[in-house]
Order: sequence, then C-alpha cells, then structure tokens
Amino acid sequence: MRLAIASRNVKKTNEMRVILGSLLDPRYSLADLNEFPDFEEPEESGATYAQNAAIKAEFSSSRLDEWCIADDAGLEIDALNGEPGVYSKRFGGVGTPFEQKIRAILSQMQNANGDERSARFRCAVAIARPGFPTQILSSVREGLIAREPRGQNGFGYDPIFLIPELGRTMAELEPEEKNRISHRGIVLAEAAAWLNAL
Ligand code: IMP
Repeated sequence: MRLAIASRNVKKTNEMRVILGSLLDPRYSLADLNEFPDFEEPEESGATYAQNAAIKAEFSSSRLDEWCIADDAGLEIDALNGEPGVYSKRFGGVGTPFEQKIRAILSQMQNANGDERSARFRCAVAIARPGFPTQILSSVREGLIAREPRGQNGFGYDPIFLIPELGRTMAELEPEEKNRISHRGIVLAEAAAWLNAL
C-alpha cells in the first residue's frame, strides 16, 4: 500500500520519510510529491493548521486516489502575540531566506527575557483517502526563543528554537534526537500507529 507525503519541501519530506519509515509496518511504501512534478499544489488557505493539513492531504489523495499524509506546522512566539503562527511559511515573504526571517524575529524580541521568550511549535497531520473520513492529529512542542541562532541541522526556525530541558536548539540536535521530541516526530508516531491499525 502506498502512502504519499503531500509535500515538495525536501527537508520536510526527508524528515517525514525517516520518522514514518521507522514506524510504519512493511505493508506501506512511501512516496512524496517530488515524484509527481506536474502535480500542482493547493493554496494553504485554511485558518488553522488542521485545515491546512486537511487541504493538502485531501487535494493530493483526490488526484492520486490513494492514502496521503500532510502536515502543517507553525511557530507561535508569545512575545510576538503568537506570530508567525499559522502564517509561519509566509512570514516576511515566502521566498525570504530563513536567516533574514530569524533576524527579524530576534530584533523584535530584544527586550524579552527569560520566560518572556516562550514559544511553541504546533503541528497538525491529516491522513486522507477518497471515500474515507479524513483523520486529523495534532501536537505541541514547547520551548524558548534563543538569543542567537545556533546549530546546522534541521530546517526553518530550528536554529532559534531552544529546548530548555536539553539546553540546545532544535538545529543542534541530531536528526534522531529531533524526531524523538519534535512536534512532527510526536504526531507522526501517532499517525503511524493509526495507519498500522488499518
Ligand atoms: P508548513 O508546515 O510547511 O506550512 O511550515 C510552516 C513554516 O514553519 C515553514 O516556514 C517551516 O519552515 C516552519 N517549520 C515547520 N516545521 C518546522 C520545524 O520542524 N522546524 C523549524 N521550522 C519549521
């Protein structure tokens, strides 16, 4: 049975492939949208992570007529009133390099100290197939925004997302460590258990 990851973001699909590949039973083989280059992607027009994940999974499953899984994530920073939040991808412009987005966040937070730097990644996952109700799962990973970006691993906002218990940013974790504790790792473990029970 094929399960298609409804994303073209290579860093994200690689992360999802590693997590799902280690947890799904051998009935499943994984694909992602980079294998379907002509396939357009829907606009992420939802107001919530769950809606956006469902839009992506349902759109792909209706085109491919098979099981599809999509995630939608965002970083909520309390000192910035929850921004960039559901607009994390578009924050500062879609094509803007992350170094620039990160610099903008850090400069807006110069006066926030200690617990005032609290933030969380939220992640929703949708699993869809035509004829089945879409399954939605979600997770939260709490942390703090670091004063400076640190680390080379991961992607997106990982260099400024500090895991207080570990004293390291998400970009300083090895991929297996990130996957064990990250918003995406936690919710995909639940998704794999749900798929394995089918
Ligand atoms: P989306 O889920 O692809 O819409 O991602 C929303 C935004 O959050 C993108 O700009 C991602 O780069 C960022 N993002 C999503 N997941 C992570 C993560 O695990 N670490 C860091 N940034 C992330």
